[in-house]
Amino acid sequence: MGYQIAIDGPAGAGKSTIARMVAREKGYIYVDTGAMYRALAVYFLDRGILPKETDRMVQACREAEIAVSYTQGRQQVYVNGKNVTERLREERVGEMASVCSSLPEVRERLLELQRSLAGEADVVMDGRDIGTRILPAADVKVYLTASAETRAGRRYLELKEKGIDCSLEEIASDIRIRDERDMTRETSPLRQAEDAVRIDSSEMSVREVADAILRLCK
Ligand code: C5P
Repeated sequence: MGYQIAIDGPAGAGKSTIARMVAREKGYIYVDTGAMYRALAVYFLDRGILPKETDRMVQACREAEIAVSYTQGRQQVYVNGKNVTERLREERVGEMASVCSSLPEVRERLLELQRSLAGEADVVMDGRDIGTRILPAADVKVYLTASAETRAGRRYLELKEKGIDCSLEEIASDIRIRDERDMTRETSPLRQAEDAVRIDSSEMSVREVADAILRLCK
């Protein structure tokens, strides 16, 4: 078993930026579990499934084989052999991922893949239930959060930089809805593991957060 760093937290807390940085500096693999839910979401959307059609998602997820590979440290995600990485950040994909991730069948489908990746190498894995369910014995567990305003503001800037037109109010409301879904679902809700260190990144730079996590590693 390799060294395991688990980072969980709500949307927009900076998990992926920090996890990628820590992984690079430690020479570990960065496993982005949100990307796996997003890949399943792409598969559902391509089959014409609507966010309310959860029965169809349960059916369809049995036929979807998710796999990942790493090229120069960047995670590539495949559904039934097709690389869907470029499509994962689309807004409708994020919405679908948020909805389908509350289904126990969908979560079960990804659990083995996530655990097996951590069994093969030293990893920094981020998501919502890594410290509580996927890697309960992780060496380092972090619950990374930030105020709702900070998280919405960061997301807003990120989209603006990409030239995507959006309103801060819309983003704030979207984040609120997704967090609520993640925290209140029955299967593996988002919550801080008892043995996780809570880091509030609202007033911290990326460097400061990464250093705080690196200090936790023995
Ligand atoms: O982190 P990211 O926004 O890419 O995740 C997409 C969606 O997948 C989230 O909104 C969340 O509902 C879900 N997710 C999850 N458990 C994880 C990772 C992501 O439920 N471990």
